[in-house]
Amino acid sequence: MPAPITNALTIDVEDYFQVSALAPHFPRTQWDTVPCRVEANVERILELLERHDTRATFFTLGWIAERYPQLVRRIAVGGHEIASHGYGHERASAQKPDTFLADIRLAKAVLEDITGQDVAGYRAPSFSIGRDNLWAHDCIAEAGYRYSSSVYPVQHDHYGMPDAPRFPWRLDNGLVEIPVTTNRWLGRNWPAGGGGYFRLLPYAVSRWQIARVNREDGRPAIFYFHPWEVDPEQPRVTEASARTRFRHYLNLQHTEARLQRLLSDFRWGRADAVFRDAA
Ligand SMILES: [Zn+2]
Repeated sequence: MPAPITNALTIDVEDYFQVSALAPHFPRTQWDTVPCRVEANVERILELLERHDTRATFFTLGWIAERYPQLVRRIAVGGHEIASHGYGHERASAQKPDTFLADIRLAKAVLEDITGQDVAGYRAPSFSIGRDNLWAHDCIAEAGYRYSSSVYPVQHDHYGMPDAPRFPWRLDNGLVEIPVTTNRWLGRNWPAGGGGYFRLLPYAVSRWQIARVNREDGRPAIFYFHPWEVDPEQPRVTEASARTRFRHYLNLQHTEARLQRLLSDFRWGRADAVFRDAA
């Protein structure tokens, strides 16, 4: 029997009002007036990881890091990887190259200032790198990041690049892109890396998908979730569309228990360690 594969566990550190689908209801100018829930939620996640003796990668928003520097330090002290989710959570696809570059440079500087450690990884908000804005990968390399995890090789109304490689690849500029995990089945790619699908479908589906990638592709998976997904008490945005509310609020009360099973059923580590030799 080969040793079990270690998969990469990643958390996108942002608050519920910064999620792209809810963004129209919370203009950036109002962010400072909304009570933040992210700190308490990240604390719960840190305790959960501690109980399972697991390290993970936290793609942290610069805006959050500036307001909660102690939280960022606590994550780093726990042995987890601090990576960048940009500063203001604007989709890469909605920005021009110069504003995008300024945003990801600022986030890197803020995070490195707090931890005193090099920040190697970056994830675009809402996996917003696709066919139409591949220039973003050059900005990420230019800002000094060494890897990106910003492409989801699936078909989705808000993101996705279904014909992108399913496993890490190195670009000409030296950057490594680590796409979120998909499962190849019935001639198409199925999302297998977390997010809404993890809450929408029974847990057994996620377990089957990750096990299949480990077993049949012989590759580690990279899985993601958000602090607000372990927070069933968060305020409800009633003005959002029925579709957005369904996606955002479904099964929040079950996420933490499902994460516990996920942590028990597989081996997990930081993205920078799991993919050290990738591509
Ligand atoms: Zn995000």
